Amino acid sequence: MRQHHGFGLELTKNSKTGWAFSLSRNDSCINATQICKKLCYGNGIRYRSDAQRQKRKRNFRTVEFLLDSGGPELLAENLIALIDQARPADWLAAKICGEPTSLPWSVRVHDVGDYPEFRTIPC
Ligand code: SF4
Repeated sequence: MRQHHGFGLELTKNSKTGWAFSLSRNDSCINATQICKKLCYGNGIRYRSDAQRQKRKRNFRTVEFLLDSGGPELLAENLIALIDQARPADWLAAKICGEPTSLPWSVRVHDVGDYPEFRTIPC
């Protein structure tokens, strides 16, 4: 999805978990307790830069927009498109040949943050 006027969905990638999708904790973790916030995985160094924070805020704004505009179906459609972007370069060739990709791949949904509309329990 193109980033325009502060909207867009974007994955993150790190050496431990590979591709991931996350939302702003301050916006989305509406039931987070003080202990939850204190122990949160999102306190780690890789989540602290302004660029990382802005990315998660943009993801949150966009998730809210998609839910308001088209409900969970529109959100799911856009998350699937995002997941498609994380495929390794040899994914199609591997699929056609019935072989594994050269690198294993996964997308962690979600890394930090929560989905307000789908809230069940804190992560
Ligand atoms: S990401 Fe999970 S652990 Fe962190 S504040 Fe939100 S609900 Fe709590």
